Amino acid sequence: MLVSRKVPVNLALVAGNRMRMIAPATKGARSLMHTFVLSSRNTHTAPAHKLLKLQNHRRSYTTRTTKPDGKKTLVLLGTGWGSTTMLKTLDTSNFNVIVVSPRNYFLFTPLLPSCTVGTTENRSIMEPIRHIVGRNNKDVRFYEAQCTDIDPKAKQLTLQTPSDTVAHISYDYLVVGVGGTYNTFGTPGVQEHALFLKEMQDASKIRRRLKDTIERAGFEDTTLEERKRLLHMVVVGGGPTGVEFAGELHDLITEDLSKWVPGLAKHVRITLVEALPHVLPSFDPKLVKYTEHTLRKNGIQLMTGTTVKRVGRTTLVVRDTKDGRESEIPYGNIVWAAGIQAREFAHTLRAKVPHVQTNARGLIIDDHLRVKGTGDIWALGDCTVSKNAPLAQVASQQGKWLARAFNAMAKERQAGDAYNSIAAKAPFVYASKGSLAYIGGERAIAEIPAFSTSITAGGPLASLFWKSYCLWELFSVRSSLSVATDWAKRAVFGRHISVD
Ligand SMILES: Cc1cc2nc3c(=O)[nH]c(=O)nc-3n(C[C@H](O)[C@H](O)[C@H](O)COP(=O)(O)OP(=O)(O)OC[C@H]3O[C@@H](n4cnc5c(N)ncnc54)[C@H](O)[C@@H]3O)c2cc1C
Repeated sequence: MLVSRKVPVNLALVAGNRMRMIAPATKGARSLMHTFVLSSRNTHTAPAHKLLKLQNHRRSYTTRTTKPDGKKTLVLLGTGWGSTTMLKTLDTSNFNVIVVSPRNYFLFTPLLPSCTVGTTENRSIMEPIRHIVGRNNKDVRFYEAQCTDIDPKAKQLTLQTPSDTVAHISYDYLVVGVGGTYNTFGTPGVQEHALFLKEMQDASKIRRRLKDTIERAGFEDTTLEERKRLLHMVVVGGGPTGVEFAGELHDLITEDLSKWVPGLAKHVRITLVEALPHVLPSFDPKLVKYTEHTLRKNGIQLMTGTTVKRVGRTTLVVRDTKDGRESEIPYGNIVWAAGIQAREFAHTLRAKVPHVQTNARGLIIDDHLRVKGTGDIWALGDCTVSKNAPLAQVASQQGKWLARAFNAMAKERQAGDAYNSIAAKAPFVYASKGSLAYIGGERAIAEIPAFSTSITAGGPLASLFWKSYCLWELFSVRSSLSVATDWAKRAVFGRHISVD
């Protein structure tokens, strides 16, 4: 268990028996205070005499964290699409802004599937949060930590730092943008054996596992049957993530493996399993048909109308939803891209207002993004449940809307009554800018709304459009240049298939 000992200090870092004082103590009203406490896991297990010595070394320092003009503390949880877009639009001079996230960078998720096979390098799509803050001259503090608990009455958050210490901070206003995580739907074996594709660590893990299995399959003592099993890549989930990953995998095999290890490349098989009758159910039926045709043409086996019953170490069992027949499929790697659910902190917050927050999928918010049943807490993006799909577009539009609402509120000098002020504004309405998905073989599909209808396109031109969109949407010129360079290098030299 982690020991948390509350000491009224701000930015006094306590690690073991060392303490670094950053600011001297001053007294002030609790609401004007921001406490930051770190306590070491080790102190819990230390013998009594050592603990006493340790405690004697600890001194408390209290400091004002709000500006002298008494600005309210606004805490943003997360550095994803929702929170980072909010941060970019927010006039941070109006608030005492603190960003808390275990991830010290923004991740451009649309290009994450391409990092699994080396089409794009990892760092190219990671934008350090401090660059974003610095470039936009934001007056912001960033704490690299995970928010693990909340006391909505005391308006206090518990944070866990990467070094496993515990800290507490107070807030006046809280915006929760902790995003979602994968959902196994309780399918036996998925957690233990499948790979996921949500964060950069996931992409790196897939890249390493692909390399390991391919290398293993190349050993002379590997039987043909075992080689075929190892080189069978199964993707579960026919949504954009699953389809894009299958497309990238196909490109790796046809463009690189076939050159470097032709004897193995001919044995690689990709199977895409989807429970619904078709892939990409949210797209126009014409584009769905085009995608399925292209995937099949690229040699990807489509198993639509099929659910995964369980996953073992080397085989998975699937069930045909039409006739109920079950079959066992040997595999080498399985990537689970079949659904998402809100992250744990969203459920921690839900548990504080269980009678109102009754949806197990995430935080129920109102039209003004406030978490129902709470005061001064807003939420956006994938950790919420609303009529909008879990998309980067939705999260970033919500972030922009909320930042503008806070900016307007500050301007109207209504900071004392944030909720009513924001609730008085026109509600958030999502406006889709269209949908794009890369499907492999330099082909993509695009569906762009135009007046009351939408323009649809599929093929190499749509792929160019998708690439231009990615370069345009990346958060900095540095990232756009890095990605463009990665693509150029790949076109000239092929993918960098080595993994450290
Ligand atoms: C492979 C892939 C491809 C995608 N492609 C597209 C696409 O092309 N177009 C599109 O519209 N959408 C796409 N999406 C969906 C899109 O990425 C998500 O909808 C979007 O990231 C949601 O934004 P968010 O801010 O809610 O969460 P996220 O972007 O996931 O950010 C959550 C943040 O919260 C932090 N966090 C987590 N737990 C805590 C905690 N306890 N305390 C503090 N911080 C915490 C995380 O570290 C992270 O910084 C894709 C998703 C994936 C996985």
